[in-house]
Amino acid sequence: MDDLRSGTRNKRGDWSPSHHPEIAFYWKTPFDLRKWGKFLIDYVWPWNAFHMAITLLYWHFILPDWEVMKTLSWDWALWLYAVNGLGIFLLYGSIELVYYVKRRQGTRFKYNAKFPSEQPSDVFWFKSQNIDNFLRSYLSGIVFWTLVEVLMLWCYANHYVYWLNWSEHPVWLTLLLFATPLIHEVNFFVIHRVIHIPFFYKWIHSVHHNSINPSPWSSLSMHPVETFLYHGVIWWHLVLPSNPLIALFQLHMAGYGALNGHIGFDKLELSDETGKLWC
Ligand SMILES: [Zn+2]
Repeated sequence: MDDLRSGTRNKRGDWSPSHHPEIAFYWKTPFDLRKWGKFLIDYVWPWNAFHMAITLLYWHFILPDWEVMKTLSWDWALWLYAVNGLGIFLLYGSIELVYYVKRRQGTRFKYNAKFPSEQPSDVFWFKSQNIDNFLRSYLSGIVFWTLVEVLMLWCYANHYVYWLNWSEHPVWLTLLLFATPLIHEVNFFVIHRVIHIPFFYKWIHSVHHNSINPSPWSSLSMHPVETFLYHGVIWWHLVLPSNPLIALFQLHMAGYGALNGHIGFDKLELSDETGKLWC
């Protein structure tokens, strides 16, 4: 597909979209039911539905017995680390393989015309963004994701926090479930704003921003403090009366969902037609 029909390319070859972000429709036309219908579908499909599907797989097949999770142990912590690591490898790795290794789409709709492998730099471990991002994901990003996950499950298993049942609180839990993207955005905005204060930026956030030309492996390439705060979005569910299924969904929205802001392309061509990803 011709990406110049919906954007422009500068002298370096970097592509940028010609459309600009617009204010949400409901501020101008709050009673347009057709737009609300489309909004709700986009709210759920495809990414939140994907995160919920992953969450249900974890819930039924991955999480150890709640009796086991009453006691902190390396056994089930490492098991969850392995599953999270494998899940990320499959999701991020498949996008990386198709669009960055095989480069099936070339640079169509790509914001930066270069690929990270073409730009060695001293800011990265081994001068390689790919190696640096991959290692930081597995030595920091997924480690602290799993740490907050283990602590959250341990708290629920011991009933240190409220664990509301769906049968007794269906309305509140449904509202909370639909509010999880809002919680994600608020949490992300606050911590992101704080780590952009120059002192914190220098010591913490600059690690993530080293990847100015991101690829999927950049998503979880973070300083340990940042990944702890970022995945710590699930602490909201230890304060608000909630349910561990919703907390796990919230966590997956952060962990698996980090991909969306780091794909590097405005659109991914999924077939002959152009499929648009939520980026
Ligand atoms: Zn930032």
